[in-house]
This record gives sequence, structure tokens and C-alpha cells, in this order.
Amino acid sequence: MASNNEQQNQAGRHQEVGHKSLLQSDALYQYILETSVYPTEPEPMKELRELTAKHPWNIMTTSADEGQFLSMLLKLMNAKNTMEIGVYTGYSLLATALALPDDGKILAMDINRENYELGLPVIQKAGVAHKVDFREGPALPVLDQMIAEGKYHGTFDFIFVDADKDNYLNYHKRLIELVKVGGLIGYDNTLWNGSVVAAPDAPLRKYVKYYRDFVMELNKALPADPRIEICMLPVGDGITLCRRIK
Ligand code: SAM
Ligand code: CA
Repeated sequence: MASNNEQQNQAGRHQEVGHKSLLQSDALYQYILETSVYPTEPEPMKELRELTAKHPWNIMTTSADEGQFLSMLLKLMNAKNTMEIGVYTGYSLLATALALPDDGKILAMDINRENYELGLPVIQKAGVAHKVDFREGPALPVLDQMIAEGKYHGTFDFIFVDADKDNYLNYHKRLIELVKVGGLIGYDNTLWNGSVVAAPDAPLRKYVKYYRDFVMELNKALPADPRIEICMLPVGDGITLCRRIK
């Protein structure tokens, strides 16, 4: 007869298998896209997604299912004042802009204006460009400036971080001051292409390998931060939601 310990291990293993089989194939992911995401994707987002697909760095874009998730989340939260670090051609930015009320705001930062300008005509045509305050340049000095000014403390409902992964902890130090208590920071790509569980000698692409340690360091630091509650979701490349509680 199995001991109590063995029974518990069995139960644990069973649950694990259950989770893994959730998305057991590419076909299942395709099913999500085709039954839930594409039929309800707003026309401007489809246009921006198709435009971005032709760009050489299109691997960076937010996936359509994650765009749908962000949109739902922002509406549930009644978010109004938001920030995005890492815009690229603007798919997550447009998802956000469409989800916010007409007087909603997005402070959007990227070191590359050219890519933002590729998507901008679609954002303008969608009638939501007035919500976007785009700042070209590295995000960190802008955050430092905002902290120094003082008036931005605790003012953001939602902050989406999707830029240089080696700075995520530096962002976190500042963003935790800027997000309001009860507000949310979403760190994107926290499963980093699955590399967070790759063997140390696994053959990883150079950039994946370089950023992996930073992502893993963040993944260790967030659950230990008493100022937040977290939830890591396997949407897209993994997103960790952090709700500020104090
Ligand atoms: N959220 C975007 C979307 O939905 O398409 C994808 C963002 S892409 C993964 C990362 C972006 O971060 C790039 O456009 C890059 O130029 C930008 N970036 C890199 N370092 C940055 C920095 N220090 N400050 C601001 N943006 C930065
Ligand atoms: Ca991302």
C-alpha cells in the first residue's frame, strides 16, 4: 500500500500533468486564436498586427491572445492612468488605448521612435492617439525624473513593462513608487522562451542566454517583495502581474 507521502506525491504529480496538458500542442494554441481571439479582435488591432508581421523584428510584438487579455484586464480594473515601457510598433499600446476611457492616458516610452511611427497611423485612425503621450528615449531617466518631481507617486493604475529585461529590477524599484496601492504592474516575458527551466548548458540563442539570468533574478525577487501580491500567467511568453498592496 502506498504511504501518505507517496499518495501526496502522486496527487502533486497528477496536478502537474493537468497543467502541462493545458496547452499540449500548437494546434490548441491555434484553436484559442481562431475561436476566441481573431473573431473578436478590433479591426485596427488586426491591421496593426498584419502590418507588424511584415517587419523584420516582428518576433517582439505582443501576441494577439495577450492583447486580448490586457484589454480585458484594463477594463475590469477601470484603469485610466497607465504607462508602457517598450512600445515597438504599438500592438499592446493600441490594445491599451482602445480599452481605456476617452480621457484615459498612456505614458509610452521607447528608445526607438521609428517603429512607433510605423504603427502610429493605425492608432490615429482608431481615434485613440490623444490618449498616448510618447517619449522617445530610455525609460529609466524618465522614471527617475518623475520620482524626483514627487507628484507622480502612487498615480498609475496600470504599468506594462515590455522592454530591456536586464533593467526590469531597476524599473521595479521605481515603478513600485509610481503605481498606486491596489494598482498593477505587468512584467512581460517572464518565462523567457522557456529558457528559465533550460539546462545550464542548453544551446540557447545568444540574446536568450544573456537575458535569462536577469529574468530569473526578477522571478526570484518578485515573490519575496512584501509590497506586492503576484500572479505569473503562461500567456504569451509569460506575464507576471504584481498588485501593489502597500
Ligand atoms: N509592447 C510591444 C508590442 O506590443 O509590440 C513590444 C515591445 S518590444 C518586446 C521591446 C521594446 O523595448 C523595443 O521596441 C525596444 O526599442 C524597447 N526598449 C529597449 N530598451 C529600452 C529602454 N531602455 N527604454 C525604453 N524602451 C526600450
Ligand atoms: Ca513581450
